[in-house]
Amino acid sequence: MAKTLDLVPVTEWGFFTLPRPMVIAGPCSAETEQQVMETAKGLADEGIHVFRAGIWKPRTHPGSFEGVGTEGLKWLRKVQKEYGLKVCTEVASEKHVYECIKFGVDMVWVGARTTANPFLMQEIADALKDTDIPVLVKNPVNPDIDLWIGALERLNRAGIRKLGVIHRGFSTSEKIAYRNAPGWQLAVELRTRYPDLPFFADPSHMGGDRKYIKELSQRSLDLGFEGLMIESHCFPSCALSDAKQQLEPKVLGEMLASLLVREKDSSDEDYKSGIHQLRAQIDILDENLLYMLKSRQEISRKIGQYKKEHNIAIVQTSRWDSLLAEMVRKGTEYGLSEKFVTAVFNAIHEASVQTQNEILEA
Ligand code: PEP
Ligand code: MN
Repeated sequence: MAKTLDLVPVTEWGFFTLPRPMVIAGPCSAETEQQVMETAKGLADEGIHVFRAGIWKPRTHPGSFEGVGTEGLKWLRKVQKEYGLKVCTEVASEKHVYECIKFGVDMVWVGARTTANPFLMQEIADALKDTDIPVLVKNPVNPDIDLWIGALERLNRAGIRKLGVIHRGFSTSEKIAYRNAPGWQLAVELRTRYPDLPFFADPSHMGGDRKYIKELSQRSLDLGFEGLMIESHCFPSCALSDAKQQLEPKVLGEMLASLLVREKDSSDEDYKSGIHQLRAQIDILDENLLYMLKSRQEISRKIGQYKKEHNIAIVQTSRWDSLLAEMVRKGTEYGLSEKFVTAVFNAIHEASVQTQNEILEA
């Protein structure tokens, strides 16, 4: 059972005007004072209240633009003063935290590479102790929900109660269209465990290309995410980092206006009775599924016993390959995707192999 987090509701942070989506926007990196001010002005004109800009940039290769450093914090202060925006940046060490405190940064976020590192997370949590700065924690680069939760726990133990998360997708070696694999199910699992934690999606880093920002934003709102963090630059194509995935402030404003924000719930009686009936049907099907899986497991056990008596190996690859192909064919006829059917049957097969293994070893 997940431990609970002691949280201050996001509505009390004084940052966002709800309803959804709460938007954080700004350049991947602060590059020059002019670029920061021009982008911030454009965003303020679009009704954005919270400005982001990376000051220290974690880059894959040395020699790439690694951020302007402390100098940029002065520009963020100017953004607060001139446009009344709240400002936030990424911290990856205690030095970054101290600099942010010194310059009055309103909120910080922890980047994906840092969330994956418990030593750094502890260092950051200790440095933030006794401050009232909200902290947003990006998912770790690898799809490990416990690392993500561990980072939140370290901050919470240090007394940080204004906490939120940013889902930016996971590194993958698979060839996919997006820069990072969305892995929505893991984010949804975290959401289910911590329903009071404000959730942001970062469609810029997830998609890696501005052409995906709208679809990923819509998807995350449909999943009930409360907020979006989107990279925006006054001249995106000239950006010194992540040039492909930033939107001009005006284009961002248009994109946001085009998003459909669905209600999280409704008190409408017709809706309630309709959804109640549909959920009741799903519950019955789920019970049936469980019963069938149990029955299948029993037969697996018998097969295991039978193979053991006849000294036969557990896995016959050819049998499994043809069974899977047949299921995919039939599934497609039912309108189920190949990916879905394959994932379901691979999970069933894995459980079956394990059952038979246990029998063999007994
Ligand atoms: C960023 O927000 O600019 C950044 C470096 O993101 P991530 O940690 O998600 O890679
Ligand atoms: Mn970036």
